[in-house]
Amino acid sequence: MNLNLPDGLVYQNLFELLQNKNYFVVTTNQDTLFSRRFPENKVSTIQGDFRYLHCVRPCHDELFESKELIEEMYANIRDWRIPTELIPHCPKCGRELEPWVRGFTFLEGKKYKEEYEKWNRFLLENKDKKILFLELGVGRMTPMFICEPF
Ligand SMILES: [Zn+2]
Repeated sequence: MNLNLPDGLVYQNLFELLQNKNYFVVTTNQDTLFSRRFPENKVSTIQGDFRYLHCVRPCHDELFESKELIEEMYANIRDWRIPTELIPHCPKCGRELEPWVRGFTFLEGKKYKEEYEKWNRFLLENKDKKILFLELGVGRMTPMFICEPF
């Protein structure tokens, strides 16, 4: 559902408002909605992204595309169950893969650092300009990622 639902009017309107403007989006949304409409280099998904999986341990710093694996699992659900052999496993340690989204085992590896570097680069490039920080729909669950830094 996260990977296929349309993004809706709010994202459409925001995207159109930002055309021809110097902007950057920092989001704690993991639902892929920003990444589907906005260019990757203009969005930082600092809390992860359902498009990727990682080792549950995690034993190494690699992400795996989730879309095909999820579609195969979804297509094979029988009696509300996914066949065991379709549950993705880590090629290195054999443990299960899980969505790359904030949780107890969230992988703060290369991709995570790249997401932070993207928006820090934007801030550095624009530090001597007037910057409007527009906070939209940020909840109180994880204030340390957007609310407090802003
Ligand atoms: Zn592993």
